[in-house]
Amino acid sequence: MVSHYIFSQLVLFALLWLFILLHLTWPKRPVAAPATPTEEPEPLTPKRHHSNEPKPFEGLTHKPHCALWERETPHPQAPPPVPPDPMPPTNRRPRGVDSSRQFCPHAGCDYRGWLGLGNLRANGHPSGGPWRQFHCTSCKGYFLETHGTIFHGKHAAVERIVHVLACLAEGLGIRATARVFEVDANTVLHWLVEAAEQLRAFSAYFLCDLHLEQLQLDEVYAVLRARKAGEISEEEAITRLEHAPSWVWTAMDPTSKLLVVVEVGHRTVAMAQRVVHQVTRVLAPGCVPLFLTDGLKDYATAILSHFGQWMHPERRQDKGPRPKPRWMPLPGLCYAQVVKSYRRRRLVGVTHRVVFGTRLAIEQVLATCGWTINTAFVERLNLDIRQRVAAIGRRVNTLCQDEAGLQQQLVLFQVYHNFVVPHSSLRQRLLVPEPPHGRSAAKVWRPCTPAMAAGVTDHVWSLKEVLGYRVPPWPQPQTV
Ligand SMILES: [Zn+2]
Repeated sequence: MVSHYIFSQLVLFALLWLFILLHLTWPKRPVAAPATPTEEPEPLTPKRHHSNEPKPFEGLTHKPHCALWERETPHPQAPPPVPPDPMPPTNRRPRGVDSSRQFCPHAGCDYRGWLGLGNLRANGHPSGGPWRQFHCTSCKGYFLETHGTIFHGKHAAVERIVHVLACLAEGLGIRATARVFEVDANTVLHWLVEAAEQLRAFSAYFLCDLHLEQLQLDEVYAVLRARKAGEISEEEAITRLEHAPSWVWTAMDPTSKLLVVVEVGHRTVAMAQRVVHQVTRVLAPGCVPLFLTDGLKDYATAILSHFGQWMHPERRQDKGPRPKPRWMPLPGLCYAQVVKSYRRRRLVGVTHRVVFGTRLAIEQVLATCGWTINTAFVERLNLDIRQRVAAIGRRVNTLCQDEAGLQQQLVLFQVYHNFVVPHSSLRQRLLVPEPPHGRSAAKVWRPCTPAMAAGVTDHVWSLKEVLGYRVPPWPQPQTV
């Protein structure tokens, strides 16, 4: 009997042991099983749907802060001086030299900075040099036609400077460009810095008072690397990257492809403010375009602070104090976000979030182009920037990897993209095709740049023409 009892105990132990073994060695799947439902798509869908529904925006009690605004308000830019009367025509023979793009640069001259007032005389080429001299009949001063441009006072050939900068604009790095032209890399960098200063003024002069219907804004990550890879530890590199202003912010008009703003900085609300502030400088007064961005929430703050106004909410009750004024979006402001969700670096969903305005109003603006809510155009442009700006996102050692250097390359890219390179989607069919020329076929299309499509200029510029353009110090009166 005892042995039978022991036997049953043993069987029980064996069963218990088997159970424990099985439990320990069983594949982990049953344990992981409760986790699988989270991988199932959209347990959160009801919530997402909820966020899609337009909620009435209640306004802010404080206007959001913009550093540029606060810097400009106490020191508003002086209005441009009043142009003097044009010089009376003289009885001399009519001028053969075009002086329509020239202005007197001399401080103290009444005609300084004004185009086409008849105060200039072409004066030939002093000591047989390549550049023409002009004479101002008002201040009796002389200046060269290259005054204030990158060509002024350079010994290097004009074509060489233009080709070097064109190479940089096409995306070749500084060192590579220096090797191609057998120039010192520092010379190339020096020319880039000089050109960037001039091109910044060029952009500011031409990109103003724009009437734009839509703007797409985006920010792209730039790999700013330390001067020499391997010199610093990985940890140090990462901390540097975190502190490095390594985002390129862009704002573009999807209709004309005009690159309106390009800036380098952190991915912060202050930077979003800066970008939207630059946008307001470019737009005509009263122009409120439709804004489309990615899901970065800082854009909403920045757009609201620059396209908002104080409103007095209605009283909810007959008595009691008046409600405090609230900072509300302008009535015509429309803003939508394209929110992309990623899982394991793969795009798994795109939702459109209307932030200001109504979905209907936004769709009406887009319908004229046959589009829906998207940020595809600015993303395409950012791809172009990646290919054309050597300092971003490519594993090359460029001299130009700090913030200022990147900014200069981007200024060059901006002008090159807007004024020099015709955009294939913008080309216009000629009413009368040009007859074939030699071996080439008849010309049916007229090339068109973003600046032409935006009505800023009437022709495709060459880089040489851009670099030789003397930018007047202030806007000129419209010639009728
Ligand atoms: Zn003068």
